[in-house]
Amino acid sequence: MKAAVCYEFGKPLVIEELRIRDPRPDEVKVKVAATAICHSDIHDINGDFGGGLPFVGGHEVAGRVQETGAGVTAVAPGDPVIVSLLESCGRCFYCMTGRPYFCETKVTYDIRGTLTNQKGEDVIQKARVGGFAEYVLVHESQLVKIADGLSMDVACLLGCGVTTGFGAVVNRAKVPPMSSVAVIGVGGVGLNSVQGAVICGANPIIAVDIVGSKLTRAKEFGATHGVDAKAADPVAAVKGLTAGRGVDYVFVTVGSSAALGQAFAMLAKRGTAVMVGLPPAADPPVSLPAGEFALTEKTVTGGFMGSICLQVDIPGIIALYKVGRYKLDELIAGRYPFEHINEALQSSAAGEVLRNVIMFDQAA
Ligand SMILES: [Zn+2]
Ligand SMILES: [Zn+2]
Repeated sequence: MKAAVCYEFGKPLVIEELRIRDPRPDEVKVKVAATAICHSDIHDINGDFGGGLPFVGGHEVAGRVQETGAGVTAVAPGDPVIVSLLESCGRCFYCMTGRPYFCETKVTYDIRGTLTNQKGEDVIQKARVGGFAEYVLVHESQLVKIADGLSMDVACLLGCGVTTGFGAVVNRAKVPPMSSVAVIGVGGVGLNSVQGAVICGANPIIAVDIVGSKLTRAKEFGATHGVDAKAADPVAAVKGLTAGRGVDYVFVTVGSSAALGQAFAMLAKRGTAVMVGLPPAADPPVSLPAGEFALTEKTVTGGFMGSICLQVDIPGIIALYKVGRYKLDELIAGRYPFEHINEALQSSAAGEVLRNVIMFDQAA
């Protein structure tokens, strides 16, 4: 099968033939139809998160089941599925306490033996997916079966970016109606935090970004205000929009320690800042005024992958989409044939676009 391999950090991917092994009893081979480019893919390729080489990136995938291991019962060949990087065993402490996204039983096939190149070297399926390839081999728990008819370019977005932004608001923070919310960074993840805030009944919903055009778009997704963090001090601007108090919730969807510091400063008393973005390893630690915790009862927390349960949240968002209460099509900036993947990555790295989607040669 063809795959786009990263052999050297910061260099274009190399499209070549790889061998993918057959599924073990609890594994499924999926023929990839569409893979969206996430910002962490760019970080992976640039080596910002470290990790081994060579690897195949891409973790927001939709496709059809090609082949199942002997013990797989949840899906069958031909089924349309969304692939997530989250796998869960259903039996460990975190799975049993309703947090399967923290499953302690990690599979190892992304590191060894799943993919091999022409020279017989192991190639890593990054994030247990490796979706910049015609096929992926995953654990059955990573799959969500979807109905026929949902187009694959839209479906793949639900593998990570959509659920991460939405789930931080709905699952992690559980924002109550009429809360004030700010979202720092309104790109492919942040727009989903905005949509989550709308679903929760938050008001105002303040989009904060350094790119003016993103603020305009955020309003189309439900933001009530936009703050251009390049033109004005975002902390003062957010306070100005909330009677001087600050907001009840801030969602930081950019991977930046500095942004978390700003989020803390723009919180109202008893407010909660949720760090959703993943800063590069080299980002300096954030320092916060410790006295304010006691004086204001502020909370700082994180949101990992939207704190989601795949089999509950993904069908839930699809249901909202189908009745017109959730925007997905509007999140796609461009569609690129697989052969043009490096162009698509470059365009995503430039930062101003939403999700670029890699389309593979097969009908949805
Ligand atoms: Zn992602
Ligand atoms: Zn588990």
